[in-house]
Amino acid sequence: MEAFYEELCKLITEEESVLREEPMKNHTTFRVGGPAEYFVTVSETETLQAVIKLCNRAKMPWFVLGNGSNLLVSDAGVKGVVLRLSGEFAECEIKENIQNGTADAVAGGGMLLSAFAMKLAKKGFSGFEFAAGIPGSVGGAVMMNAGAYGGEIKDCITKAEVVTEDGECRIFSAEELQLSYRHSILSEQKGVVTKAWFSFPIGSKLYILSNIELLNRQRREKQPLEYPSAGSTFKRPEGNFAGKLIMEAGLAGKQIGGAAVSEKHCGFVINKENATAADIYALMQYVIETVEANSGIRLEPEVKLLGEF
Ligand SMILES: Cc1cc2nc3c(=O)[nH]c(=O)nc-3n(C[C@H](O)[C@H](O)[C@H](O)COP(=O)(O)OP(=O)(O)OC[C@H]3O[C@@H](n4cnc5c(N)ncnc54)[C@H](O)[C@@H]3O)c2cc1C
Repeated sequence: MEAFYEELCKLITEEESVLREEPMKNHTTFRVGGPAEYFVTVSETETLQAVIKLCNRAKMPWFVLGNGSNLLVSDAGVKGVVLRLSGEFAECEIKENIQNGTADAVAGGGMLLSAFAMKLAKKGFSGFEFAAGIPGSVGGAVMMNAGAYGGEIKDCITKAEVVTEDGECRIFSAEELQLSYRHSILSEQKGVVTKAWFSFPIGSKLYILSNIELLNRQRREKQPLEYPSAGSTFKRPEGNFAGKLIMEAGLAGKQIGGAAVSEKHCGFVINKENATAADIYALMQYVIETVEANSGIRLEPEVKLLGEF
């Protein structure tokens, strides 16, 4: 283990870092999760590739973290390396295309969606307002094909750069990313989205900014943003809504330990009172079983699990 740590440290530049036993509760919106054995912040593609190659040689598991907004990390923590993207990965570039009235934008995988959406809005490019209130990163959003209010990543992405499981850098076209409801090729094939390219039409700056404000207000009114959560805990079942099924099963407010089904929006499991990951997981299982007994529909988690449950 010490030899691995030493090798890892040799790959890291001055702007980057390696932490040991870093509490994951500091990096997830559920505010739960035990320590990551190695928590590595990388800011260049070359380092990322080298770290992945080292992990593969050492048979050390690795995981890429975005903003931790769709993750439930076990109380026992995570074995191996958790990678976080910063530096060049948290930047974007937006170019106007006067001839055809569009903008071509490229954003790093570690950039926050809210920051990218505001940069686009301030330049008057429309079509990304839906993402302004999603608390994830560009890479996490591509991986999940994040969406809201009738928009999704699939509508505006043109291609993405991915460091694959074997540490090689490859461009995936929008088609190759196989984006569908909360799914991409990266759900089956491990990889790190390091950059994504998008195309947006030119719109009215004032309209776009007020649209963002409106959507964010709707979120504050309808979602329990006052509690830590990972957003919608379950995927939307075909032709139905998870929140509606959970409410009909009489589970609004149901609590296990410190975890609760939000009464404001039953689709959200919240960390109400110092919940553990085990409380949240137990409540998710209870909701799945109870909803199935009540409606015959088996809910599927949208939240990703990391570590042992
Ligand atoms: C209050 C709240 C509201 C939300 N509302 C919405 C919503 O309206 N619509 C919606 O779709 N989601 C919503 N979410 C869920 C979440 O924000 C999205 O799923 C988001 O896309 C996750 O991004 P992340 O960067 O936080 O990923 P993480 O939670 O860190 O990771 C999620 C998955 O993505 C992978 N991943 C992360 N970064 C990368 C990368 N660079 N390359 C490859 N894989 C990567 C991880 O390995 C993991 O498998 C909400 C969450 C919260 C807390």
